[in-house]
Amino acid sequence: MIEERSAGAVLYHDGDRVEYLLLNYPAGHWDFPKGNIEKGEDELTTVRREIMEETGIKNIAMEAGFRKVVEYHYRRKEGLVHKKVIFYLAKSPTTKVQLSFEHQGYSWRPVNEALRKVSYDNSRRILSEADRFLRSKKAAKSLGEYLPKPEQEK
Ligand code: ATP
Repeated sequence: MIEERSAGAVLYHDGDRVEYLLLNYPAGHWDFPKGNIEKGEDELTTVRREIMEETGIKNIAMEAGFRKVVEYHYRRKEGLVHKKVIFYLAKSPTTKVQLSFEHQGYSWRPVNEALRKVSYDNSRRILSEADRFLRSKKAAKSLGEYLPKPEQEK
């Protein structure tokens, strides 16, 4: 069996509302930006490189504490492929996308629309988890803003 490893990210932009980026792959499916981990590369380097190559977006901010794995099989003319894809969660400073030849379309969507657009259930699960992660991070942050500040030590 051929083994393939890719890394990518659920990329979001937080403007008036949170929107997630999906790419339309040549095989027809909609999924997150991702690509093959090259020899000697660590996962996060792959994520930054692939997002830069596939969307033109630089300076993404990784969310610490989110790392998910998706596995699937597909058939190539050389044989059956077992593929493992690692997904991180990252914030994009922009919604401006410069698509490469590798994809045929892109779409920024709020979570419910993005969940309907993603083609595969395993990726849909990752998107739900990413959105829950961001919501609880925001809730914790706004709770922190309501709590009284600890008294300064004299
Ligand atoms: P990469 O972006 O990692 O370079 P790729 O564009 O070469 O990947 P994939 O997106 O992995 O290729 O698609 C290869 C095959 O696997 C296609 O037939 C696609 O329909 C199928 N596939 C893609 N994503 C999934 C998934 N999450 N679950 C199941 N099958 C998938």
